[in-house]
Amino acid sequence: MAGNTVRLSAIEAVRAAVRPDPVVAAETSVVDTFGSHVFSRAVMRQRLPTQVFTSLVATLDEGAPLDPKIADIVAVVMKDWALEHGASHYAHVFYPLTHLSAEKHDSFFEPSGDGSTIAEFSGKALIQGEPDASSFPNGGLRATFEARGYTGWDATSPAYLLESSNGTTLCIPTVFVSMTGEALDSKTPLLRSQQAMARQADRVLRLFGHEDPAAVVSFAGAEQEYFLIDRAFFLARPDLISAGRTLVGARPPKGQEFDDHYFGAIPERVLAFMMECEHELFTLGIPAKTRHNEVAPGQFEIAPVFERSNVAADHQQLLMTIFKQVARKHGMECLFHEKPFAGINGSGKHVNFSIGNATQGNLLSPGDTPHDNAQFLVFCAAVIRAVHRYGGLLRVSVASATNDHRLGANEAPPAIISIFLGDQLTDVFAQIAAGGATSSKERGTIQIGVDTLPVLPTDPGDRNRTSPFAFTGNRFEFRAPGSLQSIAGPMTMINAILADSLDAIATRIEGLLAKGSAFNDAVQTVLAEVIRDHEAVIFNGDGYADAWQEEAAERGLPNLKTTPDALDQLISPEAIDLFGRYGILSEPEAHSRYEIALEQYVLTIDVEAAAVLKMASTAVLPAAVRFQTELASNAAALRSVGLEADLSLLEQVSACLRDLAAGIEVLTVATTSDDHESEAGRATHARDVLLPAMAEIRAAADRLEVLVADDLWPLPTYQEMLFVR
Ligand code: ADP
Ligand code: MG
Repeated sequence: MAGNTVRLSAIEAVRAAVRPDPVVAAETSVVDTFGSHVFSRAVMRQRLPTQVFTSLVATLDEGAPLDPKIADIVAVVMKDWALEHGASHYAHVFYPLTHLSAEKHDSFFEPSGDGSTIAEFSGKALIQGEPDASSFPNGGLRATFEARGYTGWDATSPAYLLESSNGTTLCIPTVFVSMTGEALDSKTPLLRSQQAMARQADRVLRLFGHEDPAAVVSFAGAEQEYFLIDRAFFLARPDLISAGRTLVGARPPKGQEFDDHYFGAIPERVLAFMMECEHELFTLGIPAKTRHNEVAPGQFEIAPVFERSNVAADHQQLLMTIFKQVARKHGMECLFHEKPFAGINGSGKHVNFSIGNATQGNLLSPGDTPHDNAQFLVFCAAVIRAVHRYGGLLRVSVASATNDHRLGANEAPPAIISIFLGDQLTDVFAQIAAGGATSSKERGTIQIGVDTLPVLPTDPGDRNRTSPFAFTGNRFEFRAPGSLQSIAGPMTMINAILADSLDAIATRIEGLLAKGSAFNDAVQTVLAEVIRDHEAVIFNGDGYADAWQEEAAERGLPNLKTTPDALDQLISPEAIDLFGRYGILSEPEAHSRYEIALEQYVLTIDVEAAAVLKMASTAVLPAAVRFQTELASNAAALRSVGLEADLSLLEQVSACLRDLAAGIEVLTVATTSDDHESEAGRATHARDVLLPAMAEIRAAADRLEVLVADDLWPLPTYQEMLFVR
């Protein structure tokens, strides 16, 4: 029999649920499935005329402009391939500034006039789409009379087939811009930043004597953390449904104190889910690699192998969509929120990145020879300079109402942006700064005081996990991005600030060479200057410690704790100048993004405030009143037979109820009292008035949760939700 609260019914449902087969039978090997749903390079090579293929590859590999003349041929070949695989529709997929993906589906089939239909897909339909995009955020970029947005084919991210129970769709990754070409999405600036970074990296490589270096690209590999909870519990929690996080809920008797979940055996039911997800990812050519339990109970992680950053960003979006869908099939809900459970570790999306090309390989990998090391050190110095000068932009690239709950908590880096280099590399730079160079005229070798150092290990053992930006042997790991976020924003900023640093370093070396300096000396000078000017950003200590907050302040590193504090960074004169110099965002584009981010912040908190009010008034309060009534009638009954009644529990419950009612009153007033004219004013109101008022309600509700009789409590508890079985 189902219980008489929503919660008890949910528990019954979870108990009664028939579990899917624990292991998805591997009908085909990974080798056969991998990329089978992708219009991959292999498919293109096989099906496209050689000339068209060669022209397209030049665009993909060398960033050559796309030749519009080939579009018609590619379109026909792509359509035939899709139809053979059962597709009936195609969709331009784009990435509006909501961190979600959007799609507009069109049918391939058109009436032919004689009662039949023919499949049509022209080059124009491949290259350009016109979704009615009036409901995507634009931050004032589009006048309402021109509500259309335009999507444009991004040939560098492969098209793929998405299967659903209703059919198969050919999905084409696209940029999304306004009629006047202003970016309305996260992909456009990412592509622009990639191009800017590549240009400056090319200059540096040429200075190092590489005559015709292949185009440099940035790579990203994102580690995605997420929670899985039973869907019956999810559906019984209005806060999870509308806000993605629990807005009330007491700590469970057993949480993560024992650290017994981390890397533990994966529950069978979860493993079945993971395997199905991976199968889906493989067919889409997404190289899922590692999977393990995370720190918190119910928390897991997946990391695909790194790819070019714009492809990685698209794949990352697709991964989240697939995880949500597959979880539902398995009777679970996948939570990507940064902090779904207060007091329990949150979820991030560590973005590992490097830059490299086909001729020189990974430019952030220390080489075997001093010569290679000098080049590596220059690229590494460029990162250090970039993070120091533009830490604010990295900070703003991870700013959101949801990530605010995670940054600076006990499981995530603080809002202070610093770099972890590790002792060895820090020491190398210290030696350089001390001017240990002995220049040599000998051809082929470069001595910059580091010749005598051992070959740098590519996987140093000391992995500091408290740093927001850590060198991890042959790449950097940006740990501040939130689990809900698109990685396009952080990768755009990384490329942009690297472009600026590589530009400055190349210009400085060129200047020194022009003054007659030997190349070795010039490199030594530049490295020493960079370290002297930017060593304040290097911090190898414990980023979680309170002492770091003070030390960082002394070092002049900003500590922008909340999103409203951070957002101004996006429109600072330095940021506008940087974006302008490298053609990443125009001033109106930067301002529109600022407006959108503020608006999203306010909306998120408004929704949460409304949700907590509703839950507190219609679920928590009535349950507590019922319990209070029971206690009161019990006391009355005892007295009527002359027994003394212990009123302490009744008094506690009554006190909590008064607090709860008062909290509801305060928040109700606060949600209606915001008369701020500007979005920035509304954001501060949300942060300084709404969030504290919500916390008051939560405190009273959570005290009640441990007092009220279990059979009356209406909401699934942390204990029930977190221990997925
Ligand atoms: P850890 O948890 O130890 O940080 P994981 O194995 O979970 O490491 O994830 C590491 C991520 O870093 C993977 O996505 C991997 O593909 C990515 N990665 C590895 N090498 C590079 C590189 N050179 N450039 C970018 N990303 C990389
Ligand atoms: Mg990891």
